[in-house]
Amino acid sequence: MARPRSVRSCINCGNCQIHGHGYCATCYSRWRDAGYPDDGPPPPAPRRYSTWTPCQERSRGRLEDYLELLQFGEHDEGMLARRLGCSIRTVQRYAAAHRTLTTQPQNRSAA
Ligand SMILES: [Zn+2]
Repeated sequence: MARPRSVRSCINCGNCQIHGHGYCATCYSRWRDAGYPDDGPPPPAPRRYSTWTPCQERSRGRLEDYLELLQFGEHDEGMLARRLGCSIRTVQRYAAAHRTLTTQPQNRSAA
């Protein structure tokens, strides 16, 4: 679904917060750091950090508890954090790890 283009947006990535020269702050700083090339900012650098994945047995166990709670229909991060006895940030890490673990086996781009 296309959004109405009433607001000016970054000519490189579409972010609607323009910083300068038609680019958002992120694209503008990439463009500046690259020495203002004529063809616009270079693509963003690949992510340096991979998603957290459980290595210790204790965290694997908690990830399993998290998945079990999800299966019981618990999706509220605050509630999940309370029931697992961890922080909301940790619940978000579990969610990211779960996404990574479930999407990694088929490494081909599923279009
Ligand atoms: Zn941008």
